[in-house]
Amino acid sequence: MPQEDWQLALKQSLTSVRHLADYFEFDASELETVESRYPMRISPYYLGLIEHVGDPIWKQCVPDILELEDSGLDDPLAEEDFSPTPAVIHRYPDRVIFLVSGSCAGYCRFCTRKRKVGCADMALSFRELRDGIDYIAANTQIRDVIFSGGDPLLLPDSVLQDLLARVHAIPHVEIIRIGTRVPVTLPERITERLCVLLKKFQPIYINTHFNHPRELTQQARNACSRLADAGIVLGNQTVLLRGVNDHADTIGELFRGLLRMRVRPYYLHHMDLTRGTGHFRTSVKTGLQIMHSLRGPVSGLASPHYVIDLPKGKGKVPLVPQYVKRKGETLFIHAEDGSVVEYPDVVDD
Ligand SMILES: *Cc1c(COP(=O)(O)O)cnc(C)c1O
Ligand code: SF4
Repeated sequence: MPQEDWQLALKQSLTSVRHLADYFEFDASELETVESRYPMRISPYYLGLIEHVGDPIWKQCVPDILELEDSGLDDPLAEEDFSPTPAVIHRYPDRVIFLVSGSCAGYCRFCTRKRKVGCADMALSFRELRDGIDYIAANTQIRDVIFSGGDPLLLPDSVLQDLLARVHAIPHVEIIRIGTRVPVTLPERITERLCVLLKKFQPIYINTHFNHPRELTQQARNACSRLADAGIVLGNQTVLLRGVNDHADTIGELFRGLLRMRVRPYYLHHMDLTRGTGHFRTSVKTGLQIMHSLRGPVSGLASPHYVIDLPKGKGKVPLVPQYVKRKGETLFIHAEDGSVVEYPDVVDD
């Protein structure tokens, strides 16, 4: 099989900080210990988005010595306790995460599955994938299958097509979702051929993962357009990251920019407790302040849920700024202009 352009681009990715030192001036020596623990991969396209050492693009993809100093948990969401078979995470009754790929077009330094993404033990065997499909087929309450990993769109078209077809053919599966960062890190992966392939398995929802307005390039815009034109509903999951996007102006610009690309902001994730990512964590207060500042100036369409994923697999919970207080049957609701409005509530039987 001749390689596609995106596969060739992927092969040219930087996988060692030593090579990054050909492009930027920084001390690579201390970072080699980090990359031996947590792999690095930066695609040529994403490398081109870095303007200088330590900028918001750099911080997302270049190893930092702080990754080794952090305590934190290897599996903060206890995903492994909710894994009936290696390729499936089943925490909510009607939906599962199906781990179909162990690699990504770039290894995000803040990744929740940092313990294994990009490592050899994440590569799934055909047998594990088949067991995953058997599990989904045997559990009729599963309506929604979320392809994840790693990045599902790093699979070659033929493998992806095979997995989608098998899941799509299960009668009780109503929708398929794909979580992917390739529109951000390897937009050339979104080929016309891929869109034709995906279109066969509608309804398909894709959640992508833009974290900073500088990622909203013309190439990314074109990739999202191709998907939207194929009738795929696009959402975005942003992670709130200290030093990258933890300002209301940055988040506001990101969310408005996404809407212009036909991508609906779906979740703003509070950083979870993954080991090696502590330097990215903001306070919840900062997140709530950002959410509060969005309510007025930003359209409801551009306001995602701000969610925290609780430890031990207790699930995602939306965090909202306090708007409502109750005294007897009267509610006191904080309006956008700062005033408090008395609102007569009804009493339910
Ligand atoms: C986040 C998550 C889902 C999907 O949740 P939605 O709120 O429906 O997007 C499913 N399973 C697990 C284990 C999750 O963490
Ligand atoms: S693309 Fe997703 S799974 Fe891959 S490293 Fe980034 S956050 Fe983790």
